[in-house]
Amino acid sequence: MDTIQHTDVVVLGGGSAGVAAAVAAARKGSRVILIERNAYLGGKATAAEVGTVCGLYQFSKKENPEFIVKGFAKTFAEALQQRSNTKPLHNLDGLHYLPYSIEAFKQVSLDLLHDHKVTVYFNSVLKTVQTEKEKIISVAAIADGNPVTIHVRSIIDCSGDSIISQAANLPLLKSEHYQAAAQVFTIEGVDEDNEARLGMILMKSLRQAIEQDKLADFYDRVYIVQGSLKNNSVSLKVGIPLPVTYAPGNLQELKTVALSFVENLSQFLIAHVDAFKNAQIKHIAPEVGIRIGQRSTGKYLLDEDDVLNCRKFDDAIANASWPMEIWEQNRRVKMRFFKMEDHYQIPAGCLQSNSIDNLFFAGRNISATDAAIASARVMGICLQTGYAAGCLAAAAALQHSLTDAVKAIQNGQL
Ligand SMILES: Cc1cc2nc3c(=O)[nH]c(=O)nc-3n(C[C@H](O)[C@H](O)[C@H](O)COP(=O)(O)OP(=O)(O)OC[C@H]3O[C@@H](n4cnc5c(N)ncnc54)[C@H](O)[C@@H]3O)c2cc1C
Repeated sequence: MDTIQHTDVVVLGGGSAGVAAAVAAARKGSRVILIERNAYLGGKATAAEVGTVCGLYQFSKKENPEFIVKGFAKTFAEALQQRSNTKPLHNLDGLHYLPYSIEAFKQVSLDLLHDHKVTVYFNSVLKTVQTEKEKIISVAAIADGNPVTIHVRSIIDCSGDSIISQAANLPLLKSEHYQAAAQVFTIEGVDEDNEARLGMILMKSLRQAIEQDKLADFYDRVYIVQGSLKNNSVSLKVGIPLPVTYAPGNLQELKTVALSFVENLSQFLIAHVDAFKNAQIKHIAPEVGIRIGQRSTGKYLLDEDDVLNCRKFDDAIANASWPMEIWEQNRRVKMRFFKMEDHYQIPAGCLQSNSIDNLFFAGRNISATDAAIASARVMGICLQTGYAAGCLAAAAALQHSLTDAVKAIQNGQL
């Protein structure tokens, strides 16, 4: 028989958005339960080992990074930076980003949830939701093997895939062509201590081999995870040459193709590139990196024009400073930038369901078009939408004004 629980707010997913959402809801006085499929927190940050937090700093050619975020996202980044013993990097385009340690990300997140007395169900998945009128009244989950029914006042979907909207049969924002997936892995025994030089060596040797028909074209979609070269070990990110389709079995196929790519690439590097002649695979990230999934339909749909024109909103809940990253299946990444030293904002409507009063979204499944989410999915922005969704959900649960909640977010976070 199901265990029955009662809580104010349920957060589905313990990635960057879910952690922020749970902390915010708890800070606003709610009892919070977070449901996470994995045995650890962080989502893509830790399971796919993406390696840098983007979207925290002003888009600027200034050498020193300037935070574009305040409040929770900033303090999270500072704690992560300290625990990772790292510092922000920047590139010639004016992009600043923070490399981090995977274990530090897990620990900072866990400490925060612990400090805020959030109940976390690890190894747990959501099964169904029950709606009544325009509200979700309970969710059923399998929590570490045991069925549990949780009666809720508000719910936040931070699953990255709009799992709650799917369970509630709500309309979804789907893509015709999802962005290309990637696999991160770490290789040790590398005889080069300069990351930029290693990048050049890698690119040159792979391009040459492609031109000589020794390697297939997709071998040009190999990138160094920036800031990862340390103690002769480096993380590489490879674009998986198979489309993301959401068809049954697609995830398994992506993993199989990714593992074979990682193996063949490593063999090539060890056999043909001096800097890798003593190298070996150290570790492969547990999850394939799916960049964009199905999004939920909110009261507002963020689009390309909002991003590229740096649009600001009266009900803004996040400052967003990252270009649109377009990762197509058959080419290297393409960036679409907005004006330097500026940013766009995300309105509260992107986090609010347009049909269920107590359903909120955050992270990479907010209400945004394919183009807009190509920017808004980075973690500095997920931390902000997560925190804002937590504040809104707590306000809804405790029957406080959402307008006042938005003002409080603007005062403390932007
Ligand atoms: C290859 C790759 C490279 C990237 N590079 C960067 C980068 O350099 N910098 C950057 O800032 N961003 C980067 N991103 C984007 C960023 O990592 C993600 O968009 C962001 O981490 C998403 O956070 P989230 O909390 O919205 O979702 P996720 O991190 O996906 O978290 C969702 C969580 O929900 C859980 N979950 C899902 N379904 C269920 C269920 N049914 N029941 C219970 N739990 C569930 C998952 O286990 C997961 O923990 C990259 C993404 C990829 C894939």
